[in-house]
Amino acid sequence: MSVANHDALPADRFDVAAVRAQFPVLADDGPGRTLTYLDSAATAQKPQAVIDALEDFYTREYASVHRGVYALSVRSTQRFEAVREKVCRLLHTSDPREVVFTRGTTEAINLVATSWGGQNVSAGDEIVVTQLEHHSNIVPWQLLCERTGARLRVAPIGLDGCVEVDAFEALLGPRTKLVALAHVSNALGTRLPVAALCQLARSRGITSLVDGAQAVPHGSVDVLAIGCDFYAFSAHKVFGPTGTGVLWGRRDLLDAMPPYQGGGSMIRSVSFEGTTYADAPQRFEAGTPDVAGVIGMGAALDWLEEIDREAAAAFECELLRYASEALEAIPGLHIFGSDPEKVGVLSFSLDCAHPHDIATILDREGVAIRAGHHCAQPLMKFYGVPAMARASLALYSDRSDIDALVSALETTREIFS
Ligand code: PMP
Repeated sequence: MSVANHDALPADRFDVAAVRAQFPVLADDGPGRTLTYLDSAATAQKPQAVIDALEDFYTREYASVHRGVYALSVRSTQRFEAVREKVCRLLHTSDPREVVFTRGTTEAINLVATSWGGQNVSAGDEIVVTQLEHHSNIVPWQLLCERTGARLRVAPIGLDGCVEVDAFEALLGPRTKLVALAHVSNALGTRLPVAALCQLARSRGITSLVDGAQAVPHGSVDVLAIGCDFYAFSAHKVFGPTGTGVLWGRRDLLDAMPPYQGGGSMIRSVSFEGTTYADAPQRFEAGTPDVAGVIGMGAALDWLEEIDREAAAAFECELLRYASEALEAIPGLHIFGSDPEKVGVLSFSLDCAHPHDIATILDREGVAIRAGHHCAQPLMKFYGVPAMARASLALYSDRSDIDALVSALETTREIFS
C-alpha cells in the first residue's frame, strides 16, 4: 500500500497521504472543520477497513463463538480464533495458544498480577517497575503487594527520561520475582531497552512483563527477541476497536497459572463437587467475549500488515525531528524527555500557560492534544510538574499537523503574554 519504490530511502517510501486518506475522521471537511488529531497515544483513529469489518460483522456475520453448531456461529468462531494467529504474526511468534484476549493492556496486566502473582509472589518478595510507568503498570502490582506483603521497587530514570540500566540491575536481587516495564513511555515516548532489561531479569531467573501499549503502534515487535515472559497491548491504540487487547504469555507460564475470573467458557466441567478448567488461553477468557471487537482487531492487524512498517517508522522519526525543532523554536516551550530512540510523543510545557489552558486554546484552533498527568503521576512528580501538554503521532500524522500545532501554540502565547 505504501511501498512506492524499494530503492528509495525508507522515509521517502512511505506515502502518508495514501494512509491518511483511509481515515474518514481526518478528511478535509472544509474551513474550520478539519481535525488536527495529535492524541494518538491516548487512542488511534480507525481506518475505513476496520470500520467496514465491524459493520460487516454486525450486518452479516454476527453470532456468538465457541458454542453454536450452526454455520453462522462456526464461521464467527473461525474468524475469532484466526485473530490469535494474526496476533502471533504481529508479535513474531507462532503459538496461538499463547494469545489471551483481554479488554486491553490494563486487564492483561491485572490478569498477570492476580493469577501469576497470586501463585508466585509472597511476603518479602519484590516486584520492580520503573519511574515512568503508566498507572496500569503500577497499581495492579501495588494491589498484589497489599494482598501478599510483597514490596514494589522503582528503577530510576534520568532527566532525559531514560531508565538508568545500572540502577535497574542493582535492584534485582534474590527476592525479585518480576520486572514489569513499559516498552515505550506514553508520557515521554522513551523507548526502553527492553531486550537488555529482560535479559538481566532472565539471567537471574526473574519473570518479566512488558507493557507494549505504546510500542505496537510505532513499529515491529518481536517478543521472542525481547525475551520477555508476558507482553500486553490494546487494540484501540493500534487502529482497532476499544474494549479488546492481548496478553501474550509463554505457554509454560500460562499453562501453570490458575484462572483469573470464573464463569462460562473457561471451564472443562462444572459440578458442585468440583470444577475443572479449560486449557490456556480459554482458561483466562471467562464470559462471552467481545467477538466483534476481536474481529475488528483482526481487521486492524490485517490493515497494518499491508503497511511498510520500516518506512512508516522512518517517516515518523523524521516527523518527530521536524516537530521537535519547530516546538523548541517557540520561546518558553520546554520538551520533556530526550531519548534519542524516542517515538512520536512530544510532552511539553509553556511557561506562560497551564497545560489545560494550552489544550483548551488549541482545541479552539481545531488541534486536539492531551493535557494532564497522562496516567503517570509518579513521572509528573519526578519532573516536579502537575501536568504536561502532550502531542502524539501515529501513522497518519504529517507535517500539516505539526504546522497547525505550532501556529495554535503561537496563538496561545499571544493570548497569555
Ligand atoms: N500502558 C501504557 C504505556 C499506556 O499508554 C496505556 C494507555 N494509555 C495503558 C498501559 C493502558 O491501556 P488501556 O487503557 O488500553 O488498557
